[in-house]
Amino acid sequence: MSLLRTLFILILIYLVFVYISRLFSPAQKRPDQLNEGREQLYPCPTCGTYNTAPVAFRANGDYYCNRECFNQRGK
Ligand SMILES: [Zn+2]
Repeated sequence: MSLLRTLFILILIYLVFVYISRLFSPAQKRPDQLNEGREQLYPCPTCGTYNTAPVAFRANGDYYCNRECFNQRGK
């Protein structure tokens, strides 16, 4: 009976440990997710589509969604 109780306590301690580690691990991931969310969207001046800076064509501070819109700039 005492062995069962010891096993039960060990399992309880393990479950509490897993629960606490799960509580803390998402909190550590949140800053990364915030950084990803901070990625800015730029409207294409030609067609109005919103683009992220790395994929957009940049000219004179404006971000164009593709080369076609980029070529039509200023028209
Ligand atoms: Zn466009």
